[in-house]
Amino acid sequence: MNLLEVRNKSWMNFVSGEWLPSTEFIDVENPATGQVIASVAAASEVEVSRAVAAARACVATGALTRCRPAVRAEMMMRIASEIRDRVADGAYVGCLESGKPLKAARAEFEEAARYFEYYAGMADKIEGTAIPLGDAYLDYTIREPYGISVQVVPWNFAPSICARSLAPALAAGNAVIVKSPELTPLATIILFEAIERAGVPKGAVNLLCGLGKTTGAALVSHPDIDQIVFTGSVQTGVSIMKAASERSVPCVMELGGKSAGIVFADANLDQVVESVRSGTFYNAGQVCSALSRLVVHASIYDVVVEKVSAMARTLKVGDGLVGADMGPVVSEHQLRKIESVCDRAKTAGARLVTGGQRLQDKAGWFMQPTVFADVDPNMEIAQEEIFGPVLSIIKFNKDDEAFDIANGTRFGLVSGVFTQRLNTALKAPPRLNAGQVFVNEWFAGGIETPFGGNRMSGHGREKGQEAIDSYVRTKNVAISLAV
Ligand code: NAD
Repeated sequence: MNLLEVRNKSWMNFVSGEWLPSTEFIDVENPATGQVIASVAAASEVEVSRAVAAARACVATGALTRCRPAVRAEMMMRIASEIRDRVADGAYVGCLESGKPLKAARAEFEEAARYFEYYAGMADKIEGTAIPLGDAYLDYTIREPYGISVQVVPWNFAPSICARSLAPALAAGNAVIVKSPELTPLATIILFEAIERAGVPKGAVNLLCGLGKTTGAALVSHPDIDQIVFTGSVQTGVSIMKAASERSVPCVMELGGKSAGIVFADANLDQVVESVRSGTFYNAGQVCSALSRLVVHASIYDVVVEKVSAMARTLKVGDGLVGADMGPVVSEHQLRKIESVCDRAKTAGARLVTGGQRLQDKAGWFMQPTVFADVDPNMEIAQEEIFGPVLSIIKFNKDDEAFDIANGTRFGLVSGVFTQRLNTALKAPPRLNAGQVFVNEWFAGGIETPFGGNRMSGHGREKGQEAIDSYVRTKNVAISLAV
């Protein structure tokens, strides 16, 4: 694809196996230039109802559940293969709409294919148990799909997060309606072209584009849905949970984070620097599990501040299409938000070591890689998710103090420790209130490893075999054998 083709293409909603024309549209910008690159159809309440009706009809026919599960596995392998055939287009469009480096957009689209491959392998292994009750009974469990799984996706990794929820939901036999993010909907549409091409039962997989407050709100409040899987901000997640609780609709919530890495005195500092490079600055810091706080032992504090900021200064910031290390943030609104948090941090007494403002010489929404030192753990910059390329460095003296700081926010998504001592590494995870712990490498793990949050970072787990539990519910069958 090229820019002209992106501009001229009709970007539509996908319902019941058809691409729906629309009368309302949303403009999509390239954050590297601030220019509009496409218009995407916005689904109205009518289209939301149509999608729910199509998904319900699919559930009723049993098209996904009455077949042998291996048939779903084959379908998912076909989807993976069609996604792989579209990696070049998906990466180009993903890079254009999000500004992220082309290489990262490519890796993300390939990851979407991996989710379908991985969960294809699980489709025929979703087994129940037999429960011994003596001679008089036969008792067993069935792990059934919910029915209609509604999945709301954020803008930071739209195609891979879409696949992360969609693939296990399909493997388990659910019909799915995805709501794509308004800022970056295009790569997800390419993903759905792959799904269409692979051939899925009508209504099994549907895509709605549109604003959160209209399309998203209409979808999650629809009376005929069976489950909500939401990935996004705490604020939106809480409002969805409140509304869902009135109808007892179960939710999986993948929300924000404010993750800390504890750097013990014996840490390998090269590992620390490389972890900040990816953990803090990958995707311009717009990652829920970003390394946003570094909690460093006093004995190595000055050298860590120096090494980390020296690395940050070397990062090439620019348009993702032309080989930058770090692209822009997603929108002007996001850029302003990040700049104002940095301004308030300076006023509060944090020491700005590098960065702290937008790149003045570029048209798009570029933020400098930013490092603050001497941050107090209670400052706003150390408590609230920034979702930008900003690191807060905090000093500690005693180990207990480090764990208190790491655990001392309302979030609980990820924590990390840097140490060369096995004892320290093994004793740390039970003391950290987080869904996962990285040791000596930020973002270690993969699609095979369970992921999710504690506290305000959410509940339920995605990724790995465990994600299947988020997409099935158990039915117990107790049979009296009395004659
Ligand atoms: P957001 O909450 O603004 O939007 C997320 C999605 O919800 C979008 O598709 C949006 O259109 C939709 N939405 C907004 N209001 C809605 C409503 N009232 N009803 C239904 N849908 C609605 O979040 P965002 O800014 O797109 O994403 C950034 C946030 O996502 C960050 O907080 C980040 O930490 C979090 N996130 C979490 C994970 C995770 O796995 N834990 C992964 C990525 C992002």
